[in-house]
Formats: sequence, C-alpha cells, structure tokens
Amino acid sequence: MPAHAAAAHTTRTTARITAVDTYDIRFPTSRSLDGSDAMNPDPDYSAAYLVLRTDAGDGLSGHGFAFTIGRGNDVQVAAIEALRDHVVGRSVSELCADPGSLSRDLIGDSQLRWLGPEKGVMHMAIGAVVNAVWDLAAKRAGLPLWRFLAEAEPEWLVSQVDFRYLTDALTPEQALTLLRSARAGREARTADLLERGYPGYTTSPGWLGYSDEKLTRLAKEAVAEGFTQIKLKVGADLADDVRRCRAARAAIGPDVRMAIDANQRWDVAQAIEWTNALAEFDPYWIEEPTSPDDVLGHATIREAVEPVKVATGEHVQNRIVFKQLLQARAIDVLQLDAARVGGVNENLAILLLAARFGIPVCPHAGGVGLCELVQHLSMFDYVALSGTTEDRVVEYVDHLHEHFLTPTVIRDGHYQAPLTPGFSAEMHPESIAAYTYPTGTFWAADLAENAGDPTEGATA
Ligand SMILES: [Mg+2]
Repeated sequence: MPAHAAAAHTTRTTARITAVDTYDIRFPTSRSLDGSDAMNPDPDYSAAYLVLRTDAGDGLSGHGFAFTIGRGNDVQVAAIEALRDHVVGRSVSELCADPGSLSRDLIGDSQLRWLGPEKGVMHMAIGAVVNAVWDLAAKRAGLPLWRFLAEAEPEWLVSQVDFRYLTDALTPEQALTLLRSARAGREARTADLLERGYPGYTTSPGWLGYSDEKLTRLAKEAVAEGFTQIKLKVGADLADDVRRCRAARAAIGPDVRMAIDANQRWDVAQAIEWTNALAEFDPYWIEEPTSPDDVLGHATIREAVEPVKVATGEHVQNRIVFKQLLQARAIDVLQLDAARVGGVNENLAILLLAARFGIPVCPHAGGVGLCELVQHLSMFDYVALSGTTEDRVVEYVDHLHEHFLTPTVIRDGHYQAPLTPGFSAEMHPESIAAYTYPTGTFWAADLAENAGDPTEGATA
C-alpha cells in the first residue's frame, strides 16, 4: 500500500465501481495536416475514452484513454467495453491501493489474452482502464500522479510491477535497489521540478504536410520559445527531406538539437542509407527508422548511423520488447508511451529497465492527451528513479490541449509540474459532447453537411 493511502479521502469504505462509461472521441485534424507523417498522411487524432464512476459520494471519477487515429477508434472502444465486467463492482479502496492486481487480472483473462498476449488493441484497452484507476487513486490521495508515485514506498512500487519475462534483465531486488538509491536528494529534485519544470522538445514545426515556409517559421518560433530541440518528420521523399532539413537547420542554428522521425517507413538498409544521407544536417536521433518489432534491425541501424542516435518506443508493444531492445543495445533513446502499453504499472517496469541499462527515456507524446499523461511519468522518473534530466526531453505537440481540464503548461521550453490531483486525463464535458463520433454536435453537423459528397467529411 502506498505510504499516502492513509491520507485518502474519507469516503464510504464499501464504495464500488458502478460504471465504465466509454466514448468514441475524434478530432478532424486531418484537415489541417497536423500530425501528418510518412505513414499517416490523414490522421484524425482520436481517443477511446473511458470514465470509471463510483458510489463513493466524493465526486471523484477515474479517467483514461487510448490514443488512436480515426476508424481505429471503433475497434479500440469495443476492446475497452470487453473489460467492463472485470471492473464494475470492484471495491474502490482495494482497487486504488493495488492497481497492479487489476492489471494482472485483465492481462490474465484467458479468452481475451489470445488476442495478444500483451500487445495490440486489447493491451491498449487494458492500459486505458488501468490508467483510469491510477487517475482515481491519485485524485483520492489528493496528489498529481507524478507525486503520488514519487512519494510511494519503493517496496509498494515494486509490488506494482509484473516481473514476468523480465527477470533475466531485471529482478525485483534490483528494482528495489534502484528505487532505494534514488531516495537521497528527492526533496531537492522535487523543488527543482516545481521551480523549473521538466525539459520538453517540440514536434509542431515538422509535420510532413507543412510547407517549407511554415516549417521555417515554426522552427524559429520554437527556439524563441525556449525549446532546445525540435523534430522533423522524414521518410517520404529524400530530396524533400534534404531540403526540409536544410531549411530547419538554417532556422534553428547549429546549437539546437534536431531529431528526425521516419515513423517506421524503411527497411534496415534503406534506413541506414537515408539517415546517412541526412547526416550533414547533424540530426540528434533517428526515430522509428523501421518496424518497432525489429529488435536486431534497430541494432544494425544503430551501429551504421553513429553518431546519430537511434530512438524508438511509441509503437513498442510491451516491456518484453523494450527489454530486448536494451539487451541488444539497439537503441540510444527509449520513447515510452503512456497509452500504448498496459498502463502505469507496465511503464514503471519500462522506466526501471531503462534505469538499469542507463538509457535515457524521452517519451512519445504526439497525439490526443499524451503530453498530459506522459509528463507525470518523466517527472516521477526524475524525482524518484533516474534522478536526472540530462539528455532527457518529453515530446511536446501544441494542439488539442484545450480539450483537457488541466492542460499541460509549457514555460521556457519546460513542462511545468502539474499540481492538480490525478493523471491530467480528464476532458471537458463540452469537448466530449462536441467530438463524440458520430453523434456529437460537431460530427453530426459535419456529416449532415457532407452527406452528398463522400470524398469530404469524417471518413476522408
Ligand atoms: Mg514518432
């Protein structure tokens, strides 16, 4: 049990989860090409969103979601609904005292497990539900999630991690040692975090669908706003990439880091060739050069493109693949995602693995609400695990934040530490009402307007 569980709100001890409400929320981002990259030319950023309701009488609910793109949301919402019976009726206090037990039960559903195991749509659904429990637990403790985790006892944190398939690389004892040794200096790091924030980098200038003029303008703005790293999408056309990288490098100067991201576009040999062809622009890392499942391919690429670093993780399906990427020395930068794997519990495992191997974590956050979630994991890592922000940055994308109750706040290129209790996952009721697909006010009007033209509108 976390040290702060005793401070939980005074509520009915018999309180139960009474409902898992789901929402298919989609934003029409494909129309402005926000989010466009070499593999996703028409992204309608979406959230398969859920709310855990209780009869505790404290007004608190747990919010979570999986990030998807457009039509994928149909499938993702159905997967979350398939987990409903595991959750409704559970004791709220027991669930919040031990989210790991729910995580294990959901992963262990033998009929649903066949669809994975521990990968893909079902696993993302589990992540969404488990994250909603963490949101509720942190709210009940009156703490933002990063602090809820950072103030928890190391033994309890270790109890939340599923070490199955990990112990050849990381044992519970080794994890405990890592967490205990990070306890010294926690207060100073918390104070530093509250004052300075956590470093971020921005992907906003570099979407593939943007003109060179827009890219240059946004890159200059990013530097003026205090960012020390930007990222560009690459991989569709080499001549275009050379031109765009040259424009971006000219805009930001030699000292600001410029990462490039191919979104899995290439085979191994092509990844090496293409990355080396862009090396003159001094890219800091090449992200997702090839399939996220190709551990040995990443290792080959890494050797061949040095000193350009290799980064991946936003589509890495679970802790076991991350373990292999680390064991094979296939990556320089680990990009965990708050809504891809089985929730906070599995991301604790991934953070512990990264700390064990000494690899910096620079989380993925391009999507709906991913900045809001993932900042908590990096802040916990700084305060209570790796103890450093050196060579660590959280991705920042400047869109869709207005739909969240407690949106991220960036100042001088740094994420400001959230102070509001919870996981920052909660969306405004008005946004849910407008963007629920296809019945929300925005989509109903849009679909009616474009009913005569099948090339326009929601399914474009
Ligand atoms: Mg990416």
